[in-house]
Amino acid sequence: MKRRVLFLIPGLLLGEGAKPLRGKLLPGRKLLVGDKTISLLSDEAVAKVLEDERLIGTELEVEGLAAGDGKFEIDGIHTKPVYTFVQGERMGVSYWCEICYIRTYSPGKCWCCQEYTKLDPKAPNTPDRKP
Ligand SMILES: [Zn+2]
Repeated sequence: MKRRVLFLIPGLLLGEGAKPLRGKLLPGRKLLVGDKTISLLSDEAVAKVLEDERLIGTELEVEGLAAGDGKFEIDGIHTKPVYTFVQGERMGVSYWCEICYIRTYSPGKCWCCQEYTKLDPKAPNTPDRKP
């Protein structure tokens, strides 16, 4: 019988022992790291990012904790744990609605105008609003 292993890590513990994992995103929420395929566990919003066909096949970095047995538990979406690389530069994965000027961190329709948001990587620590 397959048991679903999901556990919550208290926020205080994050940071210590948390380290990023970098590799190529494969379909089915997997990351190819070297010659190993790691299964990625995450919340629903992060899962949508992992299933974004614009990111599949590209190099990604995810923050979280190794969950043993070829698994990696990604931090919650509120920590913005997914990074992509644009010309070698590490950029946070985010999405942008050009109509409403709203930034989100999970792909799909804009909650305001229902248009599909555009993939818009941004440098970490830049504000959510465009200048
Ligand atoms: Zn919108």
